[in-house]
Amino acid sequence: MNHQTPRSHSPDTVLISTAAIRRRIARLAAEIAKTYDPTRELVIVAIWHGSFMFMADLLRQLHRQGIRTHVDFMTLASYGAGTRSSGRITMLQAPALPVKNQLVLLVDDILDTGRTLIRAIRWLRQRGAKNVKICVLLDKPARHKVKVRADYVGFKIPNVFVVGYGLDHDKHYRELPYIAKLRQR
Ligand code: 5GP
Ligand code: MG
Repeated sequence: MNHQTPRSHSPDTVLISTAAIRRRIARLAAEIAKTYDPTRELVIVAIWHGSFMFMADLLRQLHRQGIRTHVDFMTLASYGAGTRSSGRITMLQAPALPVKNQLVLLVDDILDTGRTLIRAIRWLRQRGAKNVKICVLLDKPARHKVKVRADYVGFKIPNVFVVGYGLDHDKHYRELPYIAKLRQR
């Protein structure tokens, strides 16, 4: 199907290839598996929507590592139609799974300013989650604004706006199987 709507931006160079993502996620899952007790279920809370593709691939690799999981989502919004965060984080949908006394792995697409993850961690801790760890596919260290550190990072990237592999620009490009830099026309 051709895209009927003209887009003001288009994905430019591939920053991280499909093969590189696949290899890195397999290694990430192995790293994660080393730190968790396989007799306990790990509660995975993924931040919707950007993390859905990463989450799906990570879960399958965790399964290969013998890790059993319970999965839920939370929807936090900080971005509108642009490429800049508003700084305000709104909880649109909280996870339904009980998190009290659980080991929780928070999964997100990208750690940018860190405000989204801080908000998510605070929410989980307030509800009694213990040992909340963070796993992100991408990290932009140059953009951090608050004190938050990811325990597991797929790739550190420079300060560029990226799309693909679940990440969108104004609802477009989530379906790309790789990470690309966005170019303005
Ligand atoms: P933070 O709260 O850390 O500033 O922003 C986190 C959220 O902003 C991410 O989960 C992601 O949805 C969005 N975001 C940050 N940087 C980018 C980017 O380069 N590309 C896209 N598509 N989204 C981004
Ligand atoms: Mg996000």
